[in-house]
Amino acid sequence: MSLVNKFRLINFVIIFSFLGAVLLSYKTNTGVFQKTNELANITKELDFLTSLKTTLTNLNLHLNNYIKDHSMQEKENILKNFQELEQLIVRTKDFKLDEDEMKMVSYLRENISRFAGYVNNIISKPEKTSYYYTLKEELFKKVSEDINKHWLEDIEKVSRVQAESKKTSERIFPAYIVLLLSLLIIAFTINRIISKRIIKPLKIVTDESTYLAGGDLDRRITIKTGDEIETLADNLNKMAEGLKEKIEALEHAVKKEQRVVRELAILNEFMGFISSEVEIDTILIRFAERSRDLLKAKYSALYMIEEGSGIRFYSTDKTLSRDLLDDFIFKNDALNTNIDLLQIKRDNNLQIKLNNESYLKNMILVPVGSTGDLKCILILFNKEGGFTQEDEDSIFSFSFQAFQTISLQYELARLATTDGLTGLYNHRMFQERLDEELIRAKRYKRKLFIMMIDIDHFKRFNDTYGHQTGDEVLKTVARLIKGNLRNIDFPARYGGEEFIIILPETECNDALMVGERLRKLVENYSFFVNENEKARITISVGISCYPGDSMDKTELIKMADEALYYAKKMGRNRVYLYGDIKKV
Ligand code: GH3
Ligand code: MG
Ligand code: MG
Repeated sequence: MSLVNKFRLINFVIIFSFLGAVLLSYKTNTGVFQKTNELANITKELDFLTSLKTTLTNLNLHLNNYIKDHSMQEKENILKNFQELEQLIVRTKDFKLDEDEMKMVSYLRENISRFAGYVNNIISKPEKTSYYYTLKEELFKKVSEDINKHWLEDIEKVSRVQAESKKTSERIFPAYIVLLLSLLIIAFTINRIISKRIIKPLKIVTDESTYLAGGDLDRRITIKTGDEIETLADNLNKMAEGLKEKIEALEHAVKKEQRVVRELAILNEFMGFISSEVEIDTILIRFAERSRDLLKAKYSALYMIEEGSGIRFYSTDKTLSRDLLDDFIFKNDALNTNIDLLQIKRDNNLQIKLNNESYLKNMILVPVGSTGDLKCILILFNKEGGFTQEDEDSIFSFSFQAFQTISLQYELARLATTDGLTGLYNHRMFQERLDEELIRAKRYKRKLFIMMIDIDHFKRFNDTYGHQTGDEVLKTVARLIKGNLRNIDFPARYGGEEFIIILPETECNDALMVGERLRKLVENYSFFVNENEKARITISVGISCYPGDSMDKTELIKMADEALYYAKKMGRNRVYLYGDIKKV
């Protein structure tokens, strides 16, 4: 039942019980009032009848006495009595008389002057007793009988009315008790209904809504009253539900925003770092560290793959070695895997022993490509709670943007240090590197060789096959040189078709051997020109030695050049040590 209807019912019950109480009390009161009025009337009547009887008795007595002694006193008494009688008759207007009594009073009123005449006649002529007898017969006897009769009736009426009145009074008390009890029951029932069905649920709603208002949005109000309070509770529950959802969405959005801001800050810092750092190794290790920080992982490692140049490996922890990762992550097949086909990968159930204390428990692997020849595989390990889809999105966007810049920077550095046609280091880089290598050789007391290479009769070759074919030959020779040196050797393009190589930590024989090897390699290589036509290409090589020949850089280069010149002179396609030509 709705709250409005409950109140209507309560109002209805209150109004009806009030009306019932009023009606009952009106009924009992009018009953008592009626009986009281009746009694008062009868009392007045009795009083009247008694007075009338007394007056008539006295009048009769005084008339009788007057007839005997004619005393003045009795005369006065008679007149006084008769006046009283007249006044009594008039008094009957004050109360109600029944029909018989009215008849008697009317009779008295109508005859009062006649009776007065008789009384006056007796007073003036006392001997005329016949008047007295007439009066006695008519007034005293007849009227007295009437009076007696009515008097007796009234006495009876009084006792009857008194009995009725008593009965009415006796009925009032239980009626009031019943009324009081009913009112008490009604009041108690209304109180119970209001308290149980309205106050109590309202209190629950108020208490619970206070918790809700305080922010405890998990609370729910359970009320089954079937009225507006239940609807209110349901609406509050829905509001809490909606609010909770909105707050969660907001929190999620804020978290996301914070994450994006953090990512941008890290990316920004990293971009700044890249632009101020030229050393690719430093940049890449920082890239691995920042990626690790971004996802709050514990370790990170990075494979950088450069087409034609091999793989570099970096990690933020020395125990996290390339061997370990090749073994476990790539199942020994790391770099045979086609990196272009690698997908971003998450694994939160790893169990790889890293060292005596720790294990690799989870990882996220991100292959990153670039517009250039660089590619990298970034792997992060051990994030508290594991890596999520959000982490995947974050690291994907961060590493992509960062790596684009890294490869661009790398490409710029490469362009500045290498020769565009052959990919070997340029002349400037050669000069710088030679300075460094000479310092190192001096410090560690080691030998160092400079090898100068010139293609034989190249002008003629160009003239015969054209410059474009000549360029191809230059590229091939450069590739042959680069591919047959140690990692620590430093090949550069010195000039047009001249190459120069720094060979640190090398012995005399070895240097000569390298020169011979390169010479034979070129001589035996099949250079195809004009599709199927083979051309013969040879090189001449001159070598100088630090500190054997000289300790001065310019001199060393000049000496290598001299040895080369000597090789040309001796018929080309030859290798000479400066030290040897000096002996000649
Ligand atoms: P040799 O060294 O045997 O004495 O004879 P050569 O004909 O090679 O003589 P030299 O070294 O003086 O000639 C250099 C020639 O190399 C000149 C030029 O035609 C050619 N050359 C230099 N740079 C380039 C280049 O970048 N591309 C091509 N195709 N040819 C070049
Ligand atoms: Mg030359
Ligand atoms: Mg030449």
